[in-house]
Formats: sequence, structure tokens, C-alpha cells
Amino acid sequence: IRSKLPHLGMTIFSVMSQKALEHGAINLSQGFPDFPVPERLRALLAEAVHAGHNQYAPLAGEPMLREAIAAKVCALYGCALDAQAAITVTSGATEALFAAICAVVRAGDEVIVFDPAYDAYEPAVTLAGGHVRHLPLCPPNFRVDWDRVRDALTAHTRLIILNSPHNPTGAVFKPTDLEALAQITQSTDVLLLADEVYEHIVFDRCQHQSLLRHAELAARSFVVSSFGKTYHCTGWKVGYCIAPPRLTAELRKVHQYLTFSTMTPAQHAFAHFMTEEPEHYRQLPAFYQAKRDHFCAMLRRSRFRFTPTRGTYFQLLDYSELSTCNDVEYADQLLANAGVASIPISVFYQHPPPQQRLLRFCFAKTAPTLEQASARLCAL
Ligand code: PMP
Ligand code: GLN
Repeated sequence: IRSKLPHLGMTIFSVMSQKALEHGAINLSQGFPDFPVPERLRALLAEAVHAGHNQYAPLAGEPMLREAIAAKVCALYGCALDAQAAITVTSGATEALFAAICAVVRAGDEVIVFDPAYDAYEPAVTLAGGHVRHLPLCPPNFRVDWDRVRDALTAHTRLIILNSPHNPTGAVFKPTDLEALAQITQSTDVLLLADEVYEHIVFDRCQHQSLLRHAELAARSFVVSSFGKTYHCTGWKVGYCIAPPRLTAELRKVHQYLTFSTMTPAQHAFAHFMTEEPEHYRQLPAFYQAKRDHFCAMLRRSRFRFTPTRGTYFQLLDYSELSTCNDVEYADQLLANAGVASIPISVFYQHPPPQQRLLRFCFAKTAPTLEQASARLCAL
């Protein structure tokens, strides 16, 4: 078969989780919590199933859930939304990203992506017939060089994909980043796709810089989030996309034939949970910061070097003092020798920096898991 994605293998998240299973290793590779979903949310899902909410949801999502999302976004980012015309519930953020890209990228269009980049973006652009223009984030802080973005814009640039808090580096945008982005795009018709799935996981009193805070940016943006990250239920696969009505209309044309709609009882459960506990997400920064600090404090005794992450539930560790291997090889060694699975971040680059020796570790784990993993890493 003449593959449409000839260079694409299996996603690193499946590869490393599979290897973790085979080695009986502690799995800090693929990002998912090893602690339970809030008890009330689980009960609400069961109630929704028993109450008979088991048939197709409306294409755009259950109205009550979209109203709850609109209320939250308004309270958080000061952005008044028409829940009917601007919010679409999707089967995870993954579906929202794919639908947004397919809806707007045409053959020959250019899409700017910052490396290291989450691995779901480029295949969608390729399938849509577009070309990815890779721009590097600048270590050690992995910030965007906005002058380079300005220089990279051409008449073919259709979309810029942004991700803050950033997976895999943990970098978070500052208000000046949004100002620079607004300035660069103001006299263009470039669209924006903001992957904000870690919007509630920011540390050190940082404020998440949602594009929804900025009216001019919001007017040209698809903003994507995920309930999987916010309520510790990555397996439920429910997310959403917020976009102005003219963009939402295009997104829904794809969504209606990609999945049509998203799991009904889960939508009921989230809607009720958000109504009962509208501020639940406010616990997340302190909850995950305690985990980050615990993990980092233990690793200070190790030979890994690191700067504590600013957002997401991922910590990068530099293993330069331990090995000169590339990160893919070192991740395999760590699995086999220390029994800890991680993610080599070179896989998120078009051209990985040759001297970079970084692995990503997920700390969305219980204290005993983090303690056991740290003990193994400190013994190296
Ligand atoms: N974007 C980023 C940056 C992610 O880390 C993830 C991973 N979970 C997703 C999108 C996909 O989210 P979902 O599981 O809701 O599809
Ligand atoms: N987003 C998760 C991560 O970065 C993985 C999602 C997936 O496995 N597709 O680890």
C-alpha cells in the first residue's frame, strides 16, 4: 500500500507504555494519573448511565455541559461565549485538534509548529495536504522566538499551533507572548489553534495565558481543552473546542463525520459535576505543585539535572552526567536497568538538537509511586 503517512510509526506513548508493561517498570512515560477520578464524578457517571442517558448526544454536545463550560470560561478568562454557537464537545482534545486542522488546512497551506511538539499535530496537517513549518523553542526555557515567527510567515501560512502549558517541556506563556502573537498576526488572516489541555496545571503562582483572555486573538482561534487532564480521567476521552461561530461552523462539519457526537453519560456527569463544584479545578495548581515539589526534592540527591517545571504534569530531567547515549537509547537503558519508563523528547522534533539529553517524566502519580521511582533514579 502507498501509505499516506509513510514515515509515521507507532506513537511514543504506546511504545513506552508497552515496554513498561513488558519490563514490569514504573510507568512515568505516557501522561496519566495513577490515582482515582473524584468519587462524586464517578457516581454521577453511573447515575447518568442508570438514568438512561445512553443514546447519541447532540452533535455539538449536551447543552447543559456547554453552558457549564461557558460559565467557567467567562469566570476564568473574562470571555463571554455563546454556548450554542462557539462551543463543541469532542471525543478528547485529540479529536478537537484533528477536526480543527482538517477544517481549515487546505492543500499547500503552511502550518507553524514549535518543536518539541506534541505528536498529534503534524499527522493531521499532512493528511489535510498541508506542510508543517517547524520552528524551534529556545532552550533552556523553551520560549518562542517571536521574531522568527514573524519571519516565517508567508502568503501560504494558514495556521499557527500553540501549546501552553507546554508538553513536553512545561514552559508556559507570559502575557508578553500573547501581545507579541497579536502584534504579529494583526494584519494577516492567519488562524490560531491553541492546545490548552493543561490550562489548570500551572505553578509558582503563574496565571495561565489563555488566548481567550485576548479578544483579538480569540477572534481567530480554536482553543482546545480536555476533561481528561482536569478531572483525572484520561480514559473517558472528553474534551472541547471553543472558537468564534464562523470557525465553529467549519469545525462541526468535520466533527459530524469524524465522530458525530461524544459519549452521552460522561457529558451528563461533567455537566452536573461542574454545576455542583464549579471551582473544583482551582485545587489543581496546588495539588500538582505538591507532587512536582515532592518529586524534585527527592531527585536533588540524584545525578540528573533539572529546572522544576512551570506547568503540566511533566518534569524534564537532563542525564548528561550519567550517559552520552542519545535519549531514545538512554530511555531504553533506564527501563531495563532501573525499571523506570520515561519519554525521550527527541521524538518530538523534526531535527533534534544533537547534544540535548533530556527525558520527560510524568509526576501525576501517588506519593509511593514517586518515591519508588525517585529511589531508583537516585541509585544511578
Ligand atoms: N494535547 C496535549 C498537549 C496533550 O498532552 C494531550 C494528552 N493527553 C492531548 C492534547 C490529548 O488530550 P485527550 O486525551 O483529551 O485527547
Ligand atoms: N498526552 C499524553 C502524554 O503526553 C499521552 C496521550 C496519548 O497517549 N495519546 O503523555
